[in-house]
Amino acid sequence: MASALSDKLSRLVKEMRGQARITESNVQDMLREVRMALLEADVALPVVRDFIARVKEKALGQDVVGSLKPGQALVGIVSKELAATMGEGQAELNLNVQPPAVILMAGLQGAGKTTTSAKIAKLLKERLKKKVLTVSGDVYRPAAIEQLKTVTAQAGAEWFPSTPDQKPLDIARAALDYAKKHYFDVLIVDTAGRLAIDEVLMQEIQSLHAFLKPAETLFVVDAMQGQDAINTAKAFKEALPLSGIVLTKLDGDSRGGAALSVKQITGAPIKFAGVSEKIDGIEIFDAERHAGRILG
Ligand code: GDP
Repeated sequence: MASALSDKLSRLVKEMRGQARITESNVQDMLREVRMALLEADVALPVVRDFIARVKEKALGQDVVGSLKPGQALVGIVSKELAATMGEGQAELNLNVQPPAVILMAGLQGAGKTTTSAKIAKLLKERLKKKVLTVSGDVYRPAAIEQLKTVTAQAGAEWFPSTPDQKPLDIARAALDYAKKHYFDVLIVDTAGRLAIDEVLMQEIQSLHAFLKPAETLFVVDAMQGQDAINTAKAFKEALPLSGIVLTKLDGDSRGGAALSVKQITGAPIKFAGVSEKIDGIEIFDAERHAGRILG
């Protein structure tokens, strides 16, 4: 892990080599660098503070004191804690309900909900042989409905039509009826997003949630969103019982600190990572690999 660290952090590890034990003061030095690395990766400040406090407590405990290589032991603690925090929880989709299992997609406009809906449809179809239906409740943007139609076709799944003059709840009811009648295993419901948090939008998705009783409510968040991810995550967590997170655009050049922020704020497991615009660009989230990326 040490090789993946920033130069400064690696240098501190070297400096600490040979010291018999870790002291409060050299832990402070190390943690200052870790703090910088996290902030540079765009982890939100309150989340950084919490994380550093947890690591400090562990570092000053039994694990490090008396270790032959205290610097590396400390870095080990940081990496492990980072991976443990981000990797906590059930990564797989929970679809063990009476079919059709509903997956409700939540998130801001542009986060990647529509793209991810189709990516998940394809995964479920190909890997688990599920019969998947998608539907768009985005009645504000006709283009979004068309976009879902196009990407669903690419996924080889079925798309249920909806139009801008319908109410989202009516669309959901019709799609659910259709899915039941035609024995679909999974219904993926794409929803409207706004550019910023919006009360009306939140109420709309809450009523969709109450009606659909989804097996999974996935919060889709753009990894490039950085510091702002914390506010978006807070708003969606307050509005909905989130069952999982999808972190998109990890193919971009952000260090992906949003993962730690969003995980800490929502407490929901990070289930998938979006790694390209293409329909196959989705992976099971790998917390250990991501910890290395955040530390830079
Ligand atoms: P929505 O408004 O939440 O439904 O977002 P979209 O699914 O329309 O995605 C917004 C833009 O982000 C589109 O141009 C997508 O192709 C792109 N996008 C979504 N996920 C990813 C990803 O994982 N990586 C990259 N590079 N682009 C993505």
